[in-house]
Amino acid sequence: MELIYKNTKINLIQGDITKQKIEAIVNAANSTLLGGGGVDGAIHKAGGPEILRECKAIRKKQGGCHVGEAVITTAGNLPSKYVIHTVGPIWRGGTNNEPILLANAYKNSLKLAHKNNIKSIAFPSISTGVYGYPIEKASIIALTTVKNVLDKISFKEIRFILFSNKDFNIYVSSVQKVFEDY
Ligand code: ADP
Repeated sequence: MELIYKNTKINLIQGDITKQKIEAIVNAANSTLLGGGGVDGAIHKAGGPEILRECKAIRKKQGGCHVGEAVITTAGNLPSKYVIHTVGPIWRGGTNNEPILLANAYKNSLKLAHKNNIKSIAFPSISTGVYGYPIEKASIIALTTVKNVLDKISFKEIRFILFSNKDFNIYVSSVQKVFEDY
């Protein structure tokens, strides 16, 4: 499904983020930046060793990536130009700053994209896999944060890539809540 908000196209797609033809994709990484399972594993596998090489160089320089922050590398063999690696929070019941940290992951990814002159970007559903963040809550934060950033910074397209049909349907209902007045 697609909508336009402040000249930016917002697209929800069910699919695999490694297959997206778009300037930048976002990786739900972990603080080590050394790769892992889920979407992180899929991105490194499809993108090849150049991504990990750059992640290791960033690690050496700044010691990984804190929760809520973002770093950028090449996309290696992927059909994108860049991968923005961000680290979402692990769900620990919801009273350990999880909503703010998750919002920061989206916000800092978009800020870093803007700094690199990236106009179109695809996000996976950060933290809702192994990190256990309930996707109904996480999707509202993801969409609200994007909406707030778009009030200040303009992009061409922001795509949300949902791996399962169930996740896609949850995002569709959250879009209707977050953008209802629009
Ligand atoms: P986290 O550790 O942040 O929870 P995961 O990779 O475990 O990250 O899960 C985040 C989301 O990414 C989950 O909804 C999972 O289903 C989804 N996912 C896994 N592989 C892909 C992929 N290739 N493309 C898009 N989304 C994916």
